Parts: sequence; C-alpha cells; structure tokens
Amino acid sequence: MAIYLCHTEPDLYEHDADVVDARPGRVALSRSAFHPGGGGQVSDIGTIETSAGVQQVTHIELDGDVWWHVLTDPEAVLDGGVTVRVDADHRHRVASLHTMSHVLNAFVFEEFEGSLVTGAQINGDGTGRMDFDLSAIDNDRLRALEAPVNEVIASGLAVEPIYVSADEAESTPGLVRSLSVAPPPTPDGRLRLIDVDGLDRQACGGTHLGNTAQAPGFRIGKIENKGKRNRRIRFSLPA
Ligand SMILES: [Zn+2]
Repeated sequence: MAIYLCHTEPDLYEHDADVVDARPGRVALSRSAFHPGGGGQVSDIGTIETSAGVQQVTHIELDGDVWWHVLTDPEAVLDGGVTVRVDADHRHRVASLHTMSHVLNAFVFEEFEGSLVTGAQINGDGTGRMDFDLSAIDNDRLRALEAPVNEVIASGLAVEPIYVSADEAESTPGLVRSLSVAPPPTPDGRLRLIDVDGLDRQACGGTHLGNTAQAPGFRIGKIENKGKRNRRIRFSLPA
C-alpha cells in the first residue's frame, strides 16, 4: 500500500492537480486527495473542475498504480490543470462509521475472546456492516455493545495513525485483527496502524476521524447469522 495524500493530509479537501491520462468518462491526476476505497470502505466522491466546467466523480477505479477518477458524464474527456474537491460530508460519514467500526471491533474482540473480523462494508449513505467469526452467542449481547460504543463517542478519544515496522506489528498479539481488511505494508515495510487512544490499535488504510467525539452517534441495526461461524452486524449513523 502506498501512503496516500489523504493519509498525510487528512484535512485537505481542495487542491490543484494536472491531468496525466484521460479516457472518455475517466481521468488520472498528478495528485489526488481522494481516498480510493478498499478493505470494504467505499472511495471518496467529489468534483474535478477544469476551464470547461465541473465534473462529478462517482468513485475511484484502481488499475495497477493508476487511479481512475470515474466521472458521471461518460463522454467527458478532461485535460490540463484542474481543481480537485473532495466531498467533505461524504468523507465525514464514511470516516465516522469506519472509526466507530474499530471501536465496535475492539469491544467484540474483548467480550468474545479474540473474535476476528471476516468482512466489512462501509457505505457512503451512512450505513455499514461488519462480519465476525462468532458462533453460539446471544445476538442481544452484540446489540448491547451500542451503549459502550456511544460512550466512547461521548468521551472523545483521540484517533491517530502511527507507523510501525511489519515485524513489530506481527509480534504484537491482536494487532492485525481482521482476516480480510488489513492493508499490506507500505513500500518501506512499515504498517499503518490506527490508534484509538487507550482502547484499540489495528492495521488499517482507510479514512478515520481525528477524535471519536466527531462522530454523530452509532446505531446497531439488524444482526444476522451468516453460516455457522459468522455473525453480520449492520450499523448506521443516526438519521
Ligand atoms: Zn480503519
């Protein structure tokens, strides 16, 4: 995993860039503050403005090292210098759900003796889900985790990325908790961890809040049994 611009400058929502490649309906830029998605998290959305007008970006498609910004207008071919704008509301919804999914994960891990995440999905509409390797437990115990997750929001814990060597990460039990969403190391062999102060630390390449108090709340919805050893917890931000 490369280190993204949105990792090093999480508050950058608008910047200039140059078109480096273009096809009808898609464009690659010299730099981009968009998060490309991954690990179950949707990509950022936003706009790209050229001298000819403003184009909406619906998502990013990765093709090797090339990030295609996919445009709503399938005919549009962009060139020259552009202004990139990331949709801040969309970013905040996704980062809120994503950050609180770490907190939920921490409580599940603690309460159910090291249960691992087997899948996750964070959507742009303020909904998401996590799947856990869990069997033979009462779903009401999972639902009851909504209260401590909201207590973490109320208490305002700092959330920050830290970079450690992959060796160090491997030798720390519980650090890479997710079977499917952990990012590969950066090119220099370091792993990006997200630290929720005093509560949780795990490998992740997504977008997060800087403090849990920035989340508008967290609701646990339907809990489904997905096979013998799998529980799916659906969650959302308050309407
Ligand atoms: Zn994350």
